[in-house]
Amino acid sequence: MRRKLAAGNWKMNGTSATLTEISALQKLLPANAPEVLICPPAPLLFRAAQIAANTGIRIGAQDCHAETSGAYTGDTSAAMIVDTGAAHVIIGHSERRTAHAEQDADIAAKARTAWAAGLNTIICIGEDLETRENGTTLDLIATQLAGSIPDAASAENTIIAYEPIWAIGTGKIPTLPQIIEVHDFIRATLTTRFDADTANAIPLLYGGSVKPDNAAQIFTAENVDGALVGGASLKASDFAPIVTALAQS
Ligand code: PEP
Repeated sequence: MRRKLAAGNWKMNGTSATLTEISALQKLLPANAPEVLICPPAPLLFRAAQIAANTGIRIGAQDCHAETSGAYTGDTSAAMIVDTGAAHVIIGHSERRTAHAEQDADIAAKARTAWAAGLNTIICIGEDLETRENGTTLDLIATQLAGSIPDAASAENTIIAYEPIWAIGTGKIPTLPQIIEVHDFIRATLTTRFDADTANAIPLLYGGSVKPDNAAQIFTAENVDGALVGGASLKASDFAPIVTALAQS
């Protein structure tokens, strides 16, 4: 059976006071909770990892640099993330692809650096509205998979998040058949590239306006193994029902 994972991306939200949401979340988790990951902003990683240490909740970063160290003002290296106690890093979120002009090759380079440091990567892909409307979503997904996921990907170091850009923070979500189509396509594409065990074991997350009231339906899709959640991960009372829906799926 594949790992199930509910990951929360806090983006550029929160201060140290917000970290109480981690302990609050732990209290609300079901006994059979799947893997739960919170990705706070970089300055909060160390304290978040300390708070989460005995909870079973894991902590991840939202980005890392492709180089291991050097003159990159404002950036965070993979080793620094490991040093905070975090075990995961999100790579290639559409907000980084758009606002920081990150290309597939940059994302693949970051993934290699993150793996070398011992981090588990959540590599994000997904189409914009224009691509969805002109019917070339699967072509773009194929290009992003080929360019962003290095050959050394495995179920131990990689999770893939499908996040249609037009669904992020908008309250709009694809129809269930649209989600199924893309996730099945990702699984099939992985199967042509990797050995069957690897292709079947890499968890695939859906992301984009996942909320307590739509999570259960999304998790009915066979190749949806969890969710990458933005806004609804900021409050334990919103995120916990999503985790519970995943546990029950
Ligand atoms: C995200 O930022 O990855 C995301 C999915 O955000 P939201 O859940 O708020 O749409």
